[in-house]
Amino acid sequence: MSLYSIWVLEYAVVPNYNVSGVLYGAHNQGNLRLPYAYVVIKGQGRVMMVDVGYNHRDYGKVLADRFGVESWHSPKDVLGQIGLSPEDVDTIFVTHAHFDHMGNLDDFPNAHVYVQEREIARAIWAMSQPPRLSFVSIATDPADVLKCVFLARSGRLTLIDGDCEDVLPGIDLRAAPDTHTFGSQYVVVRNDGRRSSADSWVLAGDLIYVYENIEGDGSVIGVEQMYVPVGVAVGSQTNLVFATEAIMRAAGGEVRRVIPVHERRLVDKFPSRARESGLRVSEICLAVGESSRL
Ligand SMILES: [Zn+2]
Repeated sequence: MSLYSIWVLEYAVVPNYNVSGVLYGAHNQGNLRLPYAYVVIKGQGRVMMVDVGYNHRDYGKVLADRFGVESWHSPKDVLGQIGLSPEDVDTIFVTHAHFDHMGNLDDFPNAHVYVQEREIARAIWAMSQPPRLSFVSIATDPADVLKCVFLARSGRLTLIDGDCEDVLPGIDLRAAPDTHTFGSQYVVVRNDGRRSSADSWVLAGDLIYVYENIEGDGSVIGVEQMYVPVGVAVGSQTNLVFATEAIMRAAGGEVRRVIPVHERRLVDKFPSRARESGLRVSEICLAVGESSRL
């Protein structure tokens, strides 16, 4: 008996992204398709999202062009694919403050936003550094941090300090400090509502980009069953592999229950539908009484 339905919606794509960007140490291994996507969780009278994408204008567009992003679609268009609109969204969990995850907060007028306090505080600290240290603020749009200030003023922002169990029924936020970013978090949906869940899903943010981050890439050093951290981090690779261990524990040891939004092969593991632009919708699970949106 599942409490929530979960969909992953691609909203843009980088057709040719360096493999070394998603897999630490994978030099000279060419490019891959890197979808940009967000997650919708629906059930118990709520419509929630994990991350919101970016808006293809202003500095968001500048960053997107720098990363080679194509085929951007608006949340109105993308959510429309599963019969929802941005106004329906009441809750947003932001995994981290990179533009492609947090940039589009303005498009959800009725949502309350949850993000790690450390992520916002350190984002401001990082932006205060001189240009030669700007590596620590890469992929952050200052305007996105300002949006959080305005959300706070209107009572629509909660800053989380560390783990938060049952932020909503059956949903936990787990902190992963100093990993991909300073204050990343991931979302665990315990879909049977039980504390020791036999039906949990982990929305991993950018702590996991592709399945090789969990299953290893034997070609790197000849060990197949080894976590290989993502290729982009301001924290440490050690913290990333231990975050991966915690994610796998939350997923009951099943790779399939870890949902990486940049993974192009989600569509091989879950029912999915592609639209004309090539962007896909993956249906991860359906709540009791919910019909397929594919
Ligand atoms: Zn990121």
